[in-house]
Amino acid sequence: MKEDNVIFDIIEREHQRQKKGIELIASENFVSEQVMRAMGSCLTNKYAEGYPGHRYYGGCEVVDEAESIAIERLKELFGAKWANVQPHSGAQANMAVFMACLNPGDKFLGLNLSHGGHLSHGSPVNFSGLMFNALEYNVDRETGRVDYEQMEEVARRERPRLIIGGASAYSREWDYARMRRLADEIGAIFMVDMAHPAGLIAAGLLDNPVKYAHIVTTTTHKTLRGPRGGVIMMGEDFENPWGKTTPKGVVKMMSQLLDSAVFPGVQGGPLEHVIAAKAVAFGEALQPEFREYQLQVQKNAAVLAQALADMGYNIVSGGTDNHCILVDLRTKFPELTGKVAEKALVLADITANKNMVPFDSRSPFQTSGIRLGTPAITTRGAKESLMLEIAEMIDTVLRNPESAENIAAVRAKVNATMQPYPMFAY
Ligand code: PLP
Repeated sequence: MKEDNVIFDIIEREHQRQKKGIELIASENFVSEQVMRAMGSCLTNKYAEGYPGHRYYGGCEVVDEAESIAIERLKELFGAKWANVQPHSGAQANMAVFMACLNPGDKFLGLNLSHGGHLSHGSPVNFSGLMFNALEYNVDRETGRVDYEQMEEVARRERPRLIIGGASAYSREWDYARMRRLADEIGAIFMVDMAHPAGLIAAGLLDNPVKYAHIVTTTTHKTLRGPRGGVIMMGEDFENPWGKTTPKGVVKMMSQLLDSAVFPGVQGGPLEHVIAAKAVAFGEALQPEFREYQLQVQKNAAVLAQALADMGYNIVSGGTDNHCILVDLRTKFPELTGKVAEKALVLADITANKNMVPFDSRSPFQTSGIRLGTPAITTRGAKESLMLEIAEMIDTVLRNPESAENIAAVRAKVNATMQPYPMFAY
């Protein structure tokens, strides 16, 4: 058959775009060759509704092995007792937890979206906010850190059935123990969505929520550097039936509820090629080199945050503990929106995204901030010295974002700088 040049030309153009640019989107990464190979394999041809050993289709013996390995490696990576590797995405992993733990209309508590929370933690346009009763906690205006006292006040007053920790634009460590105590006090389920820092957690550089939360979800494609997808895990808690009855009134293990919430609750057939790629990525994350990589991600983020702060940028919370940096542009450039900043940076081949900052005076379409992250650029081999250069390049663009000449000069520098850096880690 004739090759589909239309699409393969687009893929090649995207390859070139990724190669020549500086990738600073905090939720992105570059997977290894073998993760890519597993994703592009014949496993995509296989239907396998159900779980290993209990499928609704014949011929699943081989993919059963890959899925079982993915589960075992994931459990080893995070010290979990139970795992489901089938969610097609992070949002679907979260949806399955909601299905398993709540009834429509039930209250739950998550981080305010404009303070760093994720869509699936209660946005009014997402299933979480449409079908359930979303309550929110905030970050503190002064410190930019989660305001645990306000969280406790809302939880004690409203008594939500589920409390969610984790965020999409938050640079600091979490006090999971305090959140678990709060959940126990009000009889709520405590879930952590560690999608962003999962790789740093796997490497032991941040506290592991599997030790504290009843349920932990994550995407597999951010700091964890696997294929796009989601997973759900539990630590010790699942060993016991959920109290006397589950929130749905049935005595069942939470693991059974979660398995059936993923399939047949919110999904049909699992993507076995992606599950195989998840297994490969978990295998990579279990190697000692992965810790070295994550250490560099963290160091690079700290250096970039400090360099920008030294240039007068306001870094929300004053710095970062992880891979993510949230820049409030208002201090240095009161007139510059995140939207204009993002566009100018992208024209200079520096990819980042506009982002709301806590207590933002602008809409989510304009925003007053940009979010930066170091997982992808670190996979390409960046060290601290490149972070200093990147801070300079960002500043040069943002000081003069309307000038095509200025942007073209930075773009030439970006392209020349990235030339020697390979795209894949392995
Ligand atoms: N949870 C958090 C904290 C996220 O940041 C994201 C994505 O950015 C998701 C869930 C959703 O993941 P996905 O895009 O795979 O649905």
